[in-house]
Amino acid sequence: MTARWLPRSIRARLTLWFAAAIAAILLAYAGGAYLFLRNNLYRQLDLRLHDDLEAVEERIGLGADGRIAPIGHTDAADQDEDEQGRRWLEVWSLDGELLYREGPEEVTLPPPGTPGRTLHAGGVETVRAGATAPLRVRSAAYGLDGTRVVLRAVRSEARLRHELAEFLGGIGLGLPAAVLLACVGGYLLADRALSPVGRMAARARTITAQRLGERLPIENPDDELGRLGTVFNETLARLECSFESLRRFTADAAHELRTPLTALRSVGEVGLRESRTAGEYREVVGSMLEEVDRLTRLVDALLTLSRADGERVEIRPQRLELRQLAREMADYLDVLADEKGQRIVVEGAKGVYVEADPLVLRQAVLNVLDNAIEYSPEGALIRVLVRRSPGEAVLEVIDQGPGIETEHWERIFERFYRIDRARSRETGGAGLGLSIAQWAVRAHGGSIEVESRVGEGSCFRIRLAPAPQGSDAETPG
Ligand code: ADP
Repeated sequence: MTARWLPRSIRARLTLWFAAAIAAILLAYAGGAYLFLRNNLYRQLDLRLHDDLEAVEERIGLGADGRIAPIGHTDAADQDEDEQGRRWLEVWSLDGELLYREGPEEVTLPPPGTPGRTLHAGGVETVRAGATAPLRVRSAAYGLDGTRVVLRAVRSEARLRHELAEFLGGIGLGLPAAVLLACVGGYLLADRALSPVGRMAARARTITAQRLGERLPIENPDDELGRLGTVFNETLARLECSFESLRRFTADAAHELRTPLTALRSVGEVGLRESRTAGEYREVVGSMLEEVDRLTRLVDALLTLSRADGERVEIRPQRLELRQLAREMADYLDVLADEKGQRIVVEGAKGVYVEADPLVLRQAVLNVLDNAIEYSPEGALIRVLVRRSPGEAVLEVIDQGPGIETEHWERIFERFYRIDRARSRETGGAGLGLSIAQWAVRAHGGSIEVESRVGEGSCFRIRLAPAPQGSDAETPG
């Protein structure tokens, strides 16, 4: 979520953040420099005051009248106006009486405060005296010709403060200018970095369902935008693929639906062409119903697949004994096998359990078994073998049909794929049975494959995750 007060464009936001960061860094830096400078200036001033106190013996002494008086030269040059300002000196008695003073007359310093503070050696403080700039005062205890006194060396902070003010003035002018420059630089940089986004957006706008083959321009696949573009392009490729298979599915479905409809129509037309006996009409209606059956099966299969595609089929797993399930399916299709004089035998391990939705898994076994009956010759034997292999529950449907050439092994699971269209049409298949079987098995996390020898037969193998062995392991099959 973006705060409401932030600008909407990333470019402006980046610029703002960048400028804020630069301003914060510069402020911190300037603050540090200011403190460093201030410290240095005070140290220098304090050192001078220290020197002033050290040199006091050369400047004053006790006069003949017992009062403190300057000694040596006291001319203007000796007033020692150096770059730190004019120096002052005060001598106070321990009981707070001003004994001697050397400095501008117009300024009077307050007497030293409590003895604990300024009458002790080494104390330095800043004192405000009237309208002048603050004064830096250093005090020290001193023995002047045997008398204990307090010396105070004083210098004005005017110059120091002036220098600090100049520094702050420089910062005050320079900092906004630097931040402004950072804003401009940041904006240009952000503009440059984000320029591919504009190009990508312009191209993305032109991509429609009819132009899914187009891709976004990618300038550098390794940077963030490049990676985003690559992901987008991959998504487009997947979309294109889905669109294409949907288009193919619709076209194939329409084609498959048209065949029985045409047959239905022509049977009807032929039936109506001349008057017929009741028996002949019955035959015509029978053929028409056969086509309707074919249509119904096809529509059912299409419906199953479209539900599967939309992931609208809810899998409700329950514990199933695989051999029992195989037995049920074999019984269900026995009538069909009987018609062709075929025999279905269910064999293999009992007590192989899986967690599966019986309705869905039945569709898989049913389609495979139905194919085995369909494509095996009359009188053939169809075996359904259940076994357990490490980490798997396996169900195999082995037939004695024509077999499938290796090149078709993968493709027969595709929708509408039939090896021999003409022959398959006779048997009524639309090439959807194995697609449904594959979906049903995969919906349970399993897999289905075929192994076959042309002229000998095929083996369709369904592999599923086994359910843990329960106490009710042995169920008659
Ligand atoms: P159909 O409805 O046509 O049977 P399927 O998806 O079930 O469609 O099967 C696809 C194709 O695979 C079939 O058209 C057929 O050519 C081939 N096929 C499937 N099962 C067998 C089998 N047991 N033996 C030989 N060919 C088979």
